[in-house]
Amino acid sequence: MSSATEPSFESRHSALWHGFADMGAVTASGPFVVARGDGAYIYDRDGNEYLDATAGLWFTNVGHGRREIADAVATQLSSLAHYSNFGDFVPETTSVLAERLAEIAPVAGSKIFFTSGGSDSIDTAAKLARRYWHEVGKPEKTLIVGRQKAYHGMHVAGTSLAGIPVNHENYGTLMPDARTVAWDDAKSLLALIEEVGSDKIAAFFCEPIIGAGGVYLPPDGYLAEVRQICRDNDVLFVADEVVTGFGRIGGSWFASSRFDLAPDLMTTAKGLTSGYVPMGAVFIAPQIAEPFFAGGAWWRHGYTYGGHAGAAAAALANLDIVERENLLQESARLESSLHTYLAPLADHPRVQEVRSGLGAVAAIQLADPAEALPFVKTLREHGVSGRAAGQGAMQISPAFVMTDAQVQELATRILSALG
Ligand code: PLP
Repeated sequence: MSSATEPSFESRHSALWHGFADMGAVTASGPFVVARGDGAYIYDRDGNEYLDATAGLWFTNVGHGRREIADAVATQLSSLAHYSNFGDFVPETTSVLAERLAEIAPVAGSKIFFTSGGSDSIDTAAKLARRYWHEVGKPEKTLIVGRQKAYHGMHVAGTSLAGIPVNHENYGTLMPDARTVAWDDAKSLLALIEEVGSDKIAAFFCEPIIGAGGVYLPPDGYLAEVRQICRDNDVLFVADEVVTGFGRIGGSWFASSRFDLAPDLMTTAKGLTSGYVPMGAVFIAPQIAEPFFAGGAWWRHGYTYGGHAGAAAAALANLDIVERENLLQESARLESSLHTYLAPLADHPRVQEVRSGLGAVAAIQLADPAEALPFVKTLREHGVSGRAAGQGAMQISPAFVMTDAQVQELATRILSALG
């Protein structure tokens, strides 16, 4: 696009500090600038087309370029951008959204606490779990348990309770009272409860599918088993559905509904608005909310932009699209089509395994994790925007509008990138 004499757009833009990046490397090679999106595709500034294998960071569930959501936000902003949800204030649209979410909640009668994104949702849930036990006379229940490989966002609580050590090294102690157990063995949760005593444990955080940690599907029966262990030992079960919520799991709004987990708390974000604007929500089961709704117990917690009216308008328009276009069913279709077209890639010598078959997600695990970052760039040369997750896995989490033909094309392009 730029002429030979003009410095490129990329070289003229060096102020941005990217998230999760080696900025020396990004500066040396230049950023990958995304100019626009349409359905399951994104385009760079030169108009090159890429199949969006990841739906951004797992969020563009309804696909890119939905005018309907943009219009809903514009209409809302021109009447009331936002006000407040502290005390007794609430924008009208935010209140409507809370009722709509309560209707689809995995636990009937849930309350909805709005946040500005997934990390806010996690820290909200971690604080609420501890405050709940305080309210019911067990203030010594403060330990929060997570799983190895798990990712729970980048605020202090989420960083501490997640199971990716490189993310919390070299800061000193972030949140004390956080422990992790094996990601795939319910007995290790039981062993920790026996070691420290259930009278010390507030909550267990569980991603139904481990996402950013590398896309690991739960072993058969694992989710039901850890849910029961929490129930038996008076430990709150927190389903982190920031990735799996709003249809990513295939066939249902939430993994918690599909697996009948009845979480005490459920954290969400991403698919709530399909990422058109930032928003998160924590779903709180009635028995956990009860002490705070009985009167006299303030919860001194909230975010200026929690329940932002413009974001609420985006969420309502997004949920309308999911319902009208049967995108929960489309996600279920992708569950099997991703498996059908991607599983054969496991035969390639550079691939160790393909994890697929649950939800509209998959991972192509490279045999050599050191190849992951260069491979992301090779994928681009083959018309795929991809992303490395965990230890050398290629994350696949497309928009629910990706057709089977596009999935087949995705597999073909990945195969040609593998060489
Ligand atoms: N929890 C899970 C399971 C996530 O995957 C993420 C983000 O990817 C988060 C929490 C944090 O969400 P956010 O990046 O919106 O703060």
